[in-house]
Amino acid sequence: MQYGKAFSVMARGGLPVLDDPLLNNYVIDLGQKLVANADSVRFPFNFFIIQNNDINAAAFFGGYIKIHTGLFLYADNESQLASVVAHEIAHVTQRHLARIMESQARNNPANMAALAGALLLTLVSPEAGLAALQTTLALNLQSNINFTRTHEFEADRLGIQTMQRSGFDTREMGNFFGKLAAKYRYVSTPPQMLLTHPLPDTRVTESRARAAQYKPRNVPPSLPFQLSKARIEVRYSNMSAEASHSFFSNQLKNKSYALKEAALYGQALALMEQQKYSQADVIIDQLLAADSRNLFYVDVKTDLDIYQKRHQQAVNRLQGFYKQQPKNQVVAINLINAAMEAGDYDLAHKVLSPFLREYPNHALAWSMAIKVYQARGQLGKAYHARAEYLALHGDFKKAISELQIAIAETDAKLERARLEAKVEQYKTSQASLDALRS
Ligand SMILES: [Zn+2]
Repeated sequence: MQYGKAFSVMARGGLPVLDDPLLNNYVIDLGQKLVANADSVRFPFNFFIIQNNDINAAAFFGGYIKIHTGLFLYADNESQLASVVAHEIAHVTQRHLARIMESQARNNPANMAALAGALLLTLVSPEAGLAALQTTLALNLQSNINFTRTHEFEADRLGIQTMQRSGFDTREMGNFFGKLAAKYRYVSTPPQMLLTHPLPDTRVTESRARAAQYKPRNVPPSLPFQLSKARIEVRYSNMSAEASHSFFSNQLKNKSYALKEAALYGQALALMEQQKYSQADVIIDQLLAADSRNLFYVDVKTDLDIYQKRHQQAVNRLQGFYKQQPKNQVVAINLINAAMEAGDYDLAHKVLSPFLREYPNHALAWSMAIKVYQARGQLGKAYHARAEYLALHGDFKKAISELQIAIAETDAKLERARLEAKVEQYKTSQASLDALRS
């Protein structure tokens, strides 16, 4: 768990972790649903998205699971995405990585240095480290190759069970593997996912045979999944706004979409990126008329209001949602943003304070807090917010110097004592990170 926590801090500092409240909400909901139906869960899981078009997902010590945007782009439906996430959850509940480390310590202590080196690299540069870890394990010892293969099959077996219990279509695991295998059969450099998760044909056949043991279940397309996929296609893939606009327009013309709402949503997002606000408004209003509580639509409408200087309308709409779901990060972040744009920093502050108590590790909220405190002339608090933001990205040294300025700016004795305690806490975090590195 200590390695995992350090990994998440280093990942935030070194990887393009997505700070998108809608997508984070979605992936946490999906992950928690699967975790609730998995066996041997010993601690809370953390799911986060990396902006990377490679098809990949990975599990790390302590239940940290990262999912690439590329996985959303490549998956046709929610069951396919769920099959990969359920597989990663099984790697954690079965302690696969930890078991490899333990067996190395017993059988091949000489190789431990290479492994420790790979782990160190994982902390500094997660992508390179994970690759080195796999290389150390896969290339040096035949027994490890068999070991990791066994782990893959075990993760598939438990993953498909978790899928079944969570109401997904178990056939989609085999479909997804089959699609991957076919795509990369004749390619010399397979995607990362196949390097870390070898995919011999037997794995495809086995997962198909396992799915056949369950009663077939036809799962209707998931609106949150299709909306998330469309959002990633427009905002976080390599497609230009023009290209994504014609991509969704063609889907609508040929009726080749999984869900019409998602194609319309994608089209509206693309129009907004092209600054065609009134055209985007028409589509979003149509979507909202049919589904007024959908936060994907409310979020776009907020942006459209802000771009067209209708700040108060955005604030009023969001306050209605905030009264009912004050802890929802999509609602709170949008309201804080709209309030700031409207110049109402008192309102932004009123929403931000309880939110930060609820989500103390929300990097985006801390970055907003810096601006809100500056605008309100609360300089000590602004420095403190900057320190929190830096610490979340693993930069404890800079965080400590920001805190020292905050302490100098603060008159209240109690507050000063709290900040001083925080300095000590960051020193400890820095020391334990250093200890893991050496
Ligand atoms: Zn795996």
